[in-house]
Amino acid sequence: MSLPDIAAYDRAGLERLFSEMGEPRYRARQVLRWLWVRGASSFEEMTDLAASLRQTLAERFTIGRPELVAREVSSDGTRKYLWRLADGATVESVGIPSGNRLTVCFSTQAGCAMGCAFCATGASGFTRNLSAGEMAAQVAGVARDFSARVSNAVAMGQGEPFANYDATLAALRILNDPDALGIGARHITVSTCGIVPGIERFAAEPEQFTLAVSLHSAVQTTRDRLMPGVRRYPLAALKDALLRYFAATGRRPTLEVALISAVNDTDEEIDSLVAFCTGMPVHVNLIPMNPVEGSPFSRASDERVRKVLHALSDAGIETSVRAERGADISAACGQLRQRVSGA
Ligand code: SF4
Repeated sequence: MSLPDIAAYDRAGLERLFSEMGEPRYRARQVLRWLWVRGASSFEEMTDLAASLRQTLAERFTIGRPELVAREVSSDGTRKYLWRLADGATVESVGIPSGNRLTVCFSTQAGCAMGCAFCATGASGFTRNLSAGEMAAQVAGVARDFSARVSNAVAMGQGEPFANYDATLAALRILNDPDALGIGARHITVSTCGIVPGIERFAAEPEQFTLAVSLHSAVQTTRDRLMPGVRRYPLAALKDALLRYFAATGRRPTLEVALISAVNDTDEEIDSLVAFCTGMPVHVNLIPMNPVEGSPFSRASDERVRKVLHALSDAGIETSVRAERGADISAACGQLRQRVSGA
């Protein structure tokens, strides 16, 4: 049987572990720094731990380090990565440089069970949940590749983060921890399809992590078709949860809408979107959809994107159009994995 990965523990988990071992709490800080600041790949390197403790740890744990199996670089500087995990499962991450910022989009599951109609990952199904260490290691790996500090991280690659809630939260805490990746909580975002119980739990977390919801349509039948995995959380329940989230945190969630020609850019869709957002403290992010090979969907025209933008702005809803990045590489989620593995 394979040993557990020590990188899957956040500070609280390590503190519990060391207290069970009769070790002082500060061992957690030492191990976090070895794993995430110094990039240790063996316990032997952790020279400020006693040799006997290093040996005990080596007998009980491994240190998971995903292996880079493919990397693509876009002409705009965006880099896409495919990692192989210890059991052979593969996941993707994206690094997006912009000025002095580096944003990393990381996966929370290998594959995904949500089945979104426009998504390459959704089409190839669910493999397994990732551990917190496997998530944070993607971010650390991208930082290493850019030789830069990661300023922003988004749980928005493959997978539904709230379908793997505990591990995702532990990963966010590793990313945020000043003795690990040290990314400010407000610069760490979870992007969910709209799993209402997950939003409710997230609202109660003490850190100021931010929330994005993939809305894609405010017409129930369209949303059900595009995102069958969240049919059981209807739009009215989602809106209630978002209002409660704002009331509890004071932070405005972002609503993501990937605009697809003749699907969610029609006049009826625009009216419903405006109605859904009215009275909600949200920011709407319109995304001209990256094309997915073999998909029946095509991106909305610039004219329709402008129409949606103006309708929302005229209604007083803060809206932006996300600059398209990495269009010349396999930048839509699941595409690099699909291309490399033929999955
Ligand atoms: S878009 Fe995200 S949530 Fe939907 S199927 Fe793809 S990976 Fe899963």
